[in-house]
Amino acid sequence: MFPNHGQPLVTAPAETAILSLLLAEGPLSRVELARRTGLSSTAITKAARPLIDDGYLHELPPERTAPGAGRPVNPLAVTVEREFFIGVKISADALYAVACDLRAGLRATAGRSLGPDRSPAAVCALICEFVELLLDAEPAFRERTRHLGIAVSGDVDRAAGEVRYSVLPGWQDVPLAAMVAERTGLNVIVENDVKALTTTEHWFGEGIGTEYFALVTIGAGIGSGLVVDGRLITGAYGVAGEMGHISIDPAGPRCHCGQTGCVEAFASSDAILAAVREGTGRPDLDFDGAVLLARGGDPAAREAFARAGRAIGTGIATLVNLFGPERVVVTGEGLDTYDLLGTHIKDAYAAHAFKAAANCPLTLRPLPWEEWARGAAVLGIQALFP
Ligand SMILES: [Zn+2]
Repeated sequence: MFPNHGQPLVTAPAETAILSLLLAEGPLSRVELARRTGLSSTAITKAARPLIDDGYLHELPPERTAPGAGRPVNPLAVTVEREFFIGVKISADALYAVACDLRAGLRATAGRSLGPDRSPAAVCALICEFVELLLDAEPAFRERTRHLGIAVSGDVDRAAGEVRYSVLPGWQDVPLAAMVAERTGLNVIVENDVKALTTTEHWFGEGIGTEYFALVTIGAGIGSGLVVDGRLITGAYGVAGEMGHISIDPAGPRCHCGQTGCVEAFASSDAILAAVREGTGRPDLDFDGAVLLARGGDPAAREAFARAGRAIGTGIATLVNLFGPERVVVTGEGLDTYDLLGTHIKDAYAAHAFKAAANCPLTLRPLPWEEWARGAAVLGIQALFP
């Protein structure tokens, strides 16, 4: 039986603890679950029972931990096909959608460029089309899918299901969750794309098991998501982790946000391109041309990338100094030019990270676009929890 539409699957702390551990780490014995959660084995058995009865967990065949080690144990595992989740990533010019299983395994994908009409109504129609397509991808999907996550860049009010602002034309205060829910009948969660990706990396990727974790995206914009005490933080005003708008040089270039010298004003693809055009006196260049020039050794082009790398490294050091994450994952389409940015990012990071904070490793994680849509699907998995 499914819990009610949109209601959490688990509510008791013990159920929450064991389901989240099993989702993140795979099969574990009851003894191991008890050790990891600090609960008694009786409490584990009691909490697991309804999840087994509902088909979310199952027992694996017994395995002996060692020859002659006494009673064999039956590890508990998540039944990944018990429920499916759809995730959609809206980018400036394309839509990507995926269907995932309960452990965020990719099961089906769809993607297409957005047409000339990028209005909320047109994008909503395309989302609904993709949802139908994915629900037909496997026989069990339609029956066992009730959550749809949508990730979009910009200012998103998750609680209200609204996109307050995005780079897409005409997108201001769009009640996207309600629009899509009405047409699909699914429970729809809308979230900022970087925040969704941060949660996905924290639950299923490089951030597993960390209490303090950050994800930084580089490319068209510079974004970051922060996990503190094991939870993604949004801040009182929903803007926590805006690393791109940390001002690192009051005399620096003007940022589209209105400030001067933001990390993004040095390091977004547009900022790099503007600097290369200015430095080389070539207003005709596009971004690929700028990359080619820099790779060919043009000093002005190389300096524009170096300056961007220094800004990113300084921004990451600022984050690390402020909250001391165990690990920072760097991702985004900007990794394609890491050959031009990388040493400058690392040098600036090392120069500005304070003392032991510098022990925090930077992990590069190239993520294709489907991974962003997978991040959106994980919003649905999150909805199983209170
Ligand atoms: Zn700014």
